[in-house]
Parts: sequence; C-alpha cells; structure tokens
Amino acid sequence: MIYLDHAAATPLSQHALQAMLPYFSERFFNPSAAYLPAHRVREDYIAAKTVIASFIGAKPTDLVITSGATEANTLALSVSRGKGKILALATEHASILNALGSRPHSLIKVRPGTGLIDLTDFQQQLTSDVSLVSVSLVNNELGTIQPLSEIAQLIRQERLNRAQAHNPLPLYLHSDASQGLGLLDISVSRLGVDLLTLNSAKISGPKGVGALYFSRSVKLLPLFRGGGQESGLRSGTENVPGAIGFAAALADLKGKTVANRKKYTRLTQLLRAELEKASVQPLFLADSAPKLANFLPVSFPGLDAERLIYKCEEQEVYFSTGAACAASKGEPSRVLTAIGLSPVEIAGSLRLSLGVTNTEENVRRAGQIIRAAVDAETSRLAASAPATTMPPSQTHSPEEPEERSEA
Ligand code: PLP
Repeated sequence: MIYLDHAAATPLSQHALQAMLPYFSERFFNPSAAYLPAHRVREDYIAAKTVIASFIGAKPTDLVITSGATEANTLALSVSRGKGKILALATEHASILNALGSRPHSLIKVRPGTGLIDLTDFQQQLTSDVSLVSVSLVNNELGTIQPLSEIAQLIRQERLNRAQAHNPLPLYLHSDASQGLGLLDISVSRLGVDLLTLNSAKISGPKGVGALYFSRSVKLLPLFRGGGQESGLRSGTENVPGAIGFAAALADLKGKTVANRKKYTRLTQLLRAELEKASVQPLFLADSAPKLANFLPVSFPGLDAERLIYKCEEQEVYFSTGAACAASKGEPSRVLTAIGLSPVEIAGSLRLSLGVTNTEENVRRAGQIIRAAVDAETSRLAASAPATTMPPSQTHSPEEPEERSEA
C-alpha cells in the first residue's frame, strides 16, 4: 500500500501508542477523583497539556483539550456570540463555515490561482462591527499558507482605531492550524493570534483529540455544561489517553521542522517529476503561493479524478480528489471554485499529501502508478470520443462513491 492522504489522517506513532496504553488500563483513574493514584493521573494530564502548550509558546492554562479540531473551531467562534460580526476566509474548512449558520458573518475573498487571502477585500470588510476574524494557517485542500502576521498587523491597527473612537467591541484573530503542525514554526505570539486550533490526528497522534489555545483577554463561552472540567470551559471527564498521545506525537516533532520541510520538499519534487511525464499536462494548483511542503494539489483537466482514484486503488495507492466530499454530493469543491478553477479542472483534481509513511521509493512508484492511470484514462477517452464521451461527472466508477465528509 502507498498512502498519499496524510492531510486526511495519519497513522498513530508507536511512541504515542505506547505513551497512551497505561491510561487505558492501570492508570484509568478519573483525574478529578480525590485519591492519590487519580492525583497522579491529573499531574500526567497537566504535564501533557504543558507539552502541547509549550509547542506553540503558550501555558497549559491557555489551552482547552477538545474532541478534535471541529470542536475547537466551534468553541473559538463562541467568542463572538451575541457580539458583532465574524469574518471568515471563503476557503475555510466546513467546521468553520458550517458553524457560522445564521450568525452575522461575511466571507473574505481569496486571490484567484493561489487561494491566498485578498488583503484588500479583508481591509474593506474589517469594519467597526467585526468581533472575530477566522483564517486558517494552511488550507486543507491546497496547502496554501496564509500570511497570518500581516493579518494580525491589520487587526492591531483596527484595535487602535477602535480605542481612539471609544468603540468597546473587542476584535480577535482565530486560526485553524490543523494542517500546519510539524512543518511550520508555530508560535502564538509570532503569529499574533488570540485563538489557535490544533489537531492531533494530522501529526500521528490519536484521532478525536484537539486543542484550542486562547489568549488571556479572550472570553470563551462553553459549548456544553456539566462537571466544570477545563476551568468550566469544557465539561466532561478529561480524555487523558488522548492528551497524552497528542503530547507524545508533538514531542516527536520538536526540533525537526526544518528537516521535515526539506524531506517533504524533496519527496513532492520526486512525485511532481513523475506526474510531469503523463500524457496530459498536469496543472499544479496554487503553485505560486507559499505552500506546506507535503502538499501536492494537481489537476489533470479533462479527466475524472474519481476514476483515477478508483484505478489507483486497484494497485493500493490511496489519495483524495481535490473536490473530495463536495464531489460526492454533486457540487464542485468550494475551495477550488473560490480560486477560479473551471469545472473541468476541478473534476480532474487530486489532493496528494505526503507524510510519515512515504519514502523516495514509494513516492516514485506512486507517481508511476498515477501517471499510468492518467495515460490509460486519456487513451480510453480518446478511443470512445466523440460519440460516447461523457462529461467527467458522469464517468464514475461502477459503484457511486458514498457520501464523505471533509478532511
Ligand atoms: N480543520 C481542518 C483544516 C482540517 O483539515 C480538519 C480535518 O479534517 C478539521 C478542521 C476537522 O478536524 P477533526 O476531524 O479533528 O474535527
């Protein structure tokens, strides 16, 4: 098997697994209980939170452990509840866009081709009634890295304007950093964010575990009430094994950011070189934007990405379409539409994302298999043209794909 979908999920590391195991068995105690073994579990939980917080230059008291990035994002949006308007980037993950619901909000445009924030549109929309801005650090379909420090600078300026105008409405910056951990240097003070979402599942930690960093000035409103754990911000018995596994996975990444960036830059170059030999000229997406080193979003215009997935799956090479979930609902991808791709380019787009399971050898091999699938599809379409050629959306594999969710 060759896996090229690390933006969707990563295998749990051995270190994280071994670190977690005792907390499912002999150290099973509820960290809120009064006896000594439970106290020890509480200490271990706080130590894990300290590791997670220090990875982003924060303190454990600045962090709420959540059931993943979706919950962390939803909790982050709570700061604007009943107060002002939210500005979110048009290409945010569904866990932001679908949580906006009927709350006052508007979407910030992205630049065609790259998916980078349109700073002119942002400045125009950053009016005195905005209380929260949400821009992910890295887009989960394209890998585009947003200029968060520049966004934070504009927010600081708006805060000064408000102070001068005696406008008491607070203004916060939230970023979903689900995709950036381990390949970018993430420090909350350097990024200038007030809220930051972290995701364990993308870095070989356990799934269903995430965290929300919040600065001291932020007032979060809990999503649910109960026993008052996590300083009342997230009731429910703490997921001790989850936090321990997340911390262990992060500890493995510490000090390796530069080396990992180099490694994945080399691997994506190898993959790209193989794809460039295909009979259809690949269109590498967001190519001129700063991108996470392990992402290679690419389109083979005129082909059906779902068919390419199906063909490669037969040879145990796994990856996503760029259109992913949206395709299975018959809608073009929101992100790819926002960057101005045509329906034909969207239909032929793949999201290849590399990670711990990849080597030079398996990446080269995967590239050859994808290229062979592209060539076979091109020949098949040429042979059936023009009478039987169907638009890409109707050329699905024998079984229609099941409805999927966004990863
Ligand atoms: N945000 C981004 C950018 C993601 O890539 C994901 C992963 O699918 C999520 C949020 C949702 O994460 P989770 O499944 O942990 O809730």
